[in-house]
Amino acid sequence: MQASPNSLSSHHVAVIGAGAAGLVAARELHREGHKVVVFEKDDQVGGLWMYDPRVEPDPLGLDLTRPVVHSSLYKSLRTNLPRETMGFMDYPFVTREGEGRDPRRFPGHREVLMYLQDYAREFGIEEMVRFGCEVVNVEMIDSGKWKVKSKRKRLDDNNDRGDDFADHEDFDAVVVCVGHHTQPRIAEIPGINLWPGKQIHSHNYRIPEPFRDQIIILIGASASAADISVEIAELAKEVHIARRSAVDDTCEKKPGYDNIWLHSMIERACEDGTVIFRDGSVILADVILHCTGYKYGFPFLKTDGIVTVDDNRVGPLYKHVFPPILAPWLSFVGIPYWTFPFPTFEVQSKWIAGVLSGRIALPSQEDMMEDVKIYYSELEASGVPKHHTHNIADSAIDHNRWLASQCQCSCFEEWRIELFREIIKNWRAQPKMYRDEWDDDHLILQAHEDFNRRIS
Ligand code: FAD
Repeated sequence: MQASPNSLSSHHVAVIGAGAAGLVAARELHREGHKVVVFEKDDQVGGLWMYDPRVEPDPLGLDLTRPVVHSSLYKSLRTNLPRETMGFMDYPFVTREGEGRDPRRFPGHREVLMYLQDYAREFGIEEMVRFGCEVVNVEMIDSGKWKVKSKRKRLDDNNDRGDDFADHEDFDAVVVCVGHHTQPRIAEIPGINLWPGKQIHSHNYRIPEPFRDQIIILIGASASAADISVEIAELAKEVHIARRSAVDDTCEKKPGYDNIWLHSMIERACEDGTVIFRDGSVILADVILHCTGYKYGFPFLKTDGIVTVDDNRVGPLYKHVFPPILAPWLSFVGIPYWTFPFPTFEVQSKWIAGVLSGRIALPSQEDMMEDVKIYYSELEASGVPKHHTHNIADSAIDHNRWLASQCQCSCFEEWRIELFREIIKNWRAQPKMYRDEWDDDHLILQAHEDFNRRIS
């Protein structure tokens, strides 16, 4: 349902985080007429795409009081999507001239950061951001507004960081855009407490050099696991990859590699330093590297139990965005994964902005809650574990098109979907070269024709 433009309301909205999700949320909210303040604990925009060579003191990230490094990028990382499919729909990720720019289709991480910086500059988003400002508490107060408490480091005359400076401000609505690739999830391995080797999560992997001549067991099957295993194998003695999806008797050399083996999952780790796989092989290993994903977490958010994180399910959330009881005054951008992240953030943000202004109507709380319950039951009936609640791989197209229909905009153009299918095919056919050799030029042409239409 659409309201008439002269009855639209403007609200004072806090956006938490200035990564890709926070930037597009700020743009769409501002465009809709809302007054926006973006809180960003770092001193620049870009979030995860700000490569940080530091690693955390606790390599598994178990200690919740540790000093946290936000980004999980490794030094060599190139995007796993080609730039045409990755960019925002109304600000295509095309190649740009200039120093330090990377013209490749699957560029290095710095190019993505530069693209996000360009985006922020183009739409005046930086002026809305309070940099160096970490949100430490968000709760609803009696007036129905949200009190957002933040802290920032006070700079002394020498520009050194001094004591924290606390602040608070009331907002009509809060949009949470803090990402979910910082707090490691690790695999549970029987016997691991007595195993004498070193363990590390990919959140703390930057370069392969520390693994020279070692025997590594890497757990995981994601894009990062694939990249890191191949990079480490160039220096390590052996790399053994344990994958939950592999059948139990899997033990084979990875095609094209002399020192990478594919296995089923680990059965147990032993006090003598060996690790036993379900396929029966026994490996005396130096390191277990967990490429096993991340946990959602919103330590600053106090909702009296209305929104919880249970086994990586953030809920209840209507369409992964609005908690029904608090909608539309609290929302989340960037929760679902296995989608095109930036276009999904964009359409989620348009939806939130339109709902807040009254241009787009939400169903009743009861109907939203019922929708969430039906979604959970469907997952359960299909045997999908709770921690995959926000994996929308099978429904990404329908899900995003549904959001787009609410906003009366388009999303996930045919060429984008076709390109994605081609990439998957190409990645399977030539996993080493899929970023540099392809056969989908006709689709790239379509993408660029579409970009030109939008820009002109
Ligand atoms: P982030 O980029 O993490 O931004 C969150 C921001 O919130 C940060 O700036 C952080 O400092 C800030 N913040 C957090 N807490 C607070 C607080 N309390 N107060 C104030 N500020 C706070 N996607 C692709 O499209 N293509 C790829 O090739 C790709 N590769 C990836 C590779 C890796 C290794 C990983 C982990 C992810 C990859 N992704 C990729 C997915 C990626 O997560 C998204 O592209 C996207 O950048 C995430 O943006 P975000 O804004 O949700 O989160």
